[in-house]
Amino acid sequence: MNTASAPVTGDASLSARETFKALYARVRPHRWAVALGLLCALVGAAGGLLQPLATKAMVDRLASGQTVAGIVLALTALVVLSTVVEAFGAFVLERTAESVVLAARRTLIGRLLRLRLVEWERIPPGDLMSRVTTDTTLLRAVSTQAVVSAATGAVAFVAAIVLMAVLDVVLLGVTLGVVALIGGAVALVMPKIARATERSQEAVGEISVALERVFGAFRTVKASGAEDRETARVEAAARRAWRHGVTSAKWEAVAGSADGLAVQLAFLAVLGIGGARVASGAISLSTLMAFLLYLFYLIEPVSKLVDAVSHYQEGAATISRIAQVDRLSTEPTAGQKAALPSQDAAVPGPASVRFEDVSFRYRPGGPYIHQCVSFEVPGAGMTAFVGPSGAGKSTVFALIERFYEATGGRVLVDGKDVRGWSLPRLRSAIGYVEQDAPVLAGTLRENLLFAAPGATDGEIRDVLARTKLDTLVERLPHGLDTPVGHRGSKLSGGERQRIAIARALLRKPRLLLLDEATSQLDAVNELAVRDVVAEVARETTVLVVAHRLSTVTGADRIVVMDDGRVRAVGTHEELVAQDQLYARLAATQLLAPAG
Ligand code: ADP
Repeated sequence: MNTASAPVTGDASLSARETFKALYARVRPHRWAVALGLLCALVGAAGGLLQPLATKAMVDRLASGQTVAGIVLALTALVVLSTVVEAFGAFVLERTAESVVLAARRTLIGRLLRLRLVEWERIPPGDLMSRVTTDTTLLRAVSTQAVVSAATGAVAFVAAIVLMAVLDVVLLGVTLGVVALIGGAVALVMPKIARATERSQEAVGEISVALERVFGAFRTVKASGAEDRETARVEAAARRAWRHGVTSAKWEAVAGSADGLAVQLAFLAVLGIGGARVASGAISLSTLMAFLLYLFYLIEPVSKLVDAVSHYQEGAATISRIAQVDRLSTEPTAGQKAALPSQDAAVPGPASVRFEDVSFRYRPGGPYIHQCVSFEVPGAGMTAFVGPSGAGKSTVFALIERFYEATGGRVLVDGKDVRGWSLPRLRSAIGYVEQDAPVLAGTLRENLLFAAPGATDGEIRDVLARTKLDTLVERLPHGLDTPVGHRGSKLSGGERQRIAIARALLRKPRLLLLDEATSQLDAVNELAVRDVVAEVARETTVLVVAHRLSTVTGADRIVVMDDGRVRAVGTHEELVAQDQLYARLAATQLLAPAG
């Protein structure tokens, strides 16, 4: 699959009405701050609005030989005051804008970490990340600047028009005619800004996707000599972002210069017609002057209105990308109701697991990965799952953890359907070591405490000794507080596996799931881990997906899986005698190829 240009969520963009509602919902919690900012902006605008009138009064007074010192002083005070109020209002709005961005990021982050695995697998993580980081920044402009520009622009525009009407209706008619003409042209280019912005944001997302693909397999990229090809791939996305950004800039420039053009043209028309009216004595020279000042004053509100509309177009583009994440389905949180009535009272001791005729497929319409899978694991002891690669063994664990829901049948833990458990409680009973034993960037201590933040130093020491990690800790420059690198890149595969096992053990689970967890261990460490697991299995239910004969022979029970079905269940001796596939696998020592 070409991840760099993958259709991301496959959702259609929002309608104009939905866009407005979604944007309004983001601004609504901050409406009072926006109102305050707006009020300040209006006070500032009113200060500006009074200036031409004061100028007219000054000219009239000068003409009649009166003093103007008082007016000059008042005018100065007005300018200073309105500037201060305007600056305060601008700060309030910027702060609010940042808050809108923060709120959007918080909801997105909260959702992303709770996405269902099926959704997470559908969308490249880089794309999701860019929605949280870059898309949200575009909300800044629309959430406050657009609102305020629209409101102040409209108020100042109407006020100026009213005052112009008072001065001379004929000249106002000329002005409005020109403005309307240019305004119509601007309205045509606005949707183009939205479209270009959305494409540009998509391309920015593609850059993240392409980079994440490279960084996810950095050594492979280098070893394959694929740097140039992958660079070209990332650059192609960057160029797409550039192209759409330039398109958007082009239309914004057209829209942005249109307001100046409108006023210039109106100025010329008013100058011609107004000059004639002054000559004919229809209006006075000071009236024409004041009118022309208002005309220039109009530049600001008109450009604010244009700005507001173009910010809105950008916001509309980004809100639809954010809303797509809002529509992805998430797992229920502790507070939300489970699909079945919750029956998960705390049960001490090892957990039991039962699969009842479970069928499962990862996608509707996809192949069935489990077909009528049934088995029962009573509390405690070790149960090994063996079978060829792709038989569906790891999927058993994924269904127990409820990463996915069974398509048919029931998965029971402690005799209760997993859908009836609250998800946090179900998972808190389980320790899970994934197949590739992921280690997260951070220190060794953070990794160990990841599943059990409350573990004590004594418990950590004990687990380190049991998993033979104590010698590693001694070797590290800062002991437990040594950073392990991105995905634990500074550790060996075997060390990562033992850390993952130690992490799961620290959780003190009632059910321990180990997915080929010892595949990368050397003989000594494997023996140590096997002993630990055997010890744990005395008081905990342990399920292992195993590929080594040594792991399996010690198991209390072995479930042989093949092609999504349970072929046989029994002990090693029983199965060697009774099951051909098992006997063949056991004979080769290798029950399922590692990794
Ligand atoms: P095993 O652990 O026995 O090797 P798995 O349970 O990992 O097998 O996988 C069983 C089948 O399910 C495989 O054919 C695999 O390709 C498919 N599969 C596993 N995980 C996913 C997934 N997340 N989405 C789609 N198919 C998957």
